[in-house]
Order: sequence, then C-alpha cells, then structure tokens
Amino acid sequence: MKTGKICIGVLALQGAFREHRLMLERCGVQTLEIRKPEELDQVQGLVIPGGESTTIGKLMVEWGLMDKIKARAAQGMAIYGTCAGMILLAKEIVGSDQPRLALMDITVQRNAFGRQRESFEAEMNVPEFGNEAMRAVFIRAPYIEKAGPGVQVLAKVNERIVIARQGQFLATSFHPELTNDERVHRYFVEMVAG
Ligand code: GLN
Repeated sequence: MKTGKICIGVLALQGAFREHRLMLERCGVQTLEIRKPEELDQVQGLVIPGGESTTIGKLMVEWGLMDKIKARAAQGMAIYGTCAGMILLAKEIVGSDQPRLALMDITVQRNAFGRQRESFEAEMNVPEFGNEAMRAVFIRAPYIEKAGPGVQVLAKVNERIVIARQGQFLATSFHPELTNDERVHRYFVEMVAG
C-alpha cells in the first residue's frame, strides 16, 4: 500500500485531535488540522475526534463545516469518528436532537456505560485486526444500540457494539489514539487508500 501521498484531515474544533495526528503520522500518512471548510478539499479522509459531541456539532454548523463534510462524504471521502465522533456520524442519537452528520445507519446512546464508570479500559477481540486482543480506553463513551443491515459490526464489549463500519465510514466508542495500538488507524488508512 502506498500511503506517502495520502493526507488525512483531523477535525480540530475541540477535543483530542493532536493524538490522532500523531497516530496517523506513525501510520505513514500526512495530516492536516481542519478548521475551515476549504481545508477539506486538501484531504482524502477525515478523523472526527472525541470531545463533547454537542459542542463539536454546534461549532461544525457555525463554521460551515457540517454541509461541507456531508458534500465531501457524498463524493466518497472516508470518515472515522471516535467517541463524540461516533455520535456525530450517527443517524439517531437516543433522546437528543443535537446537530449531526447522520451518515451511518446507527442509533447511539451517549454516556452509555454508566456515570459510575466515567472512564475504564476493556479488552476485546477484533477478528478483523488479527488474533491479538485489543485494549481499549473508554471515556464517557457511547455505544451503538442498533445498527442497520448495511453496517458491519467489528467488535462488542459487554454485548454492546463498540466498533462499526458502513462503507467508507468507521466508528469506535473508545480512544485508540490514547494507546499504542495502531491497528484501528492502520485499518482506516487502508480504507482511505482503497
Ligand atoms: N460523552 C461525550 C459526548 O456525548 C463523548 C465523550 C468522548 O468523546 N470521550 O459527546
């Protein structure tokens, strides 16, 4: 796979965007922080980081990024959302009418693992990423309550869907950019390259 010419944008309005850049650069691609709509024309893929989905969504609308990201997605741009990013990709958010991209046929529940577990780590198997178990960091994480027929479920924790893919869109409940495991980012880079 030739990844040297690929540039992946990281939405940099709020949240954990620096860690995603570092991880993507370790995977051999160039990165660009995205704050303005026209910057999206320079990238082949986009990462939406964790943070606060209501804040990120509001800023996306205010800064003209919501419509532009949808337009680039319609042209085939790949998008990977972590945590708040997953929420922003979902068509349905339980009990909320907050702004969203609505690109994935999933219903997400926010802060879904319970208040007493603000953050936790879990180990899970992800057959798509090989035999080695993956340790994942969850921070006030959402999970996918329902997924449409076009959605591929890649992993579950406590019977809850935490990694899903639908065509060019990928979502994880957890934060792989906070660990040393590059497999989710490598998988996304391959989606962008393909
Ligand atoms: N709880 C946050 C939200 O609902 C997501 C948390 C995160 O991205 N780590 O937007």
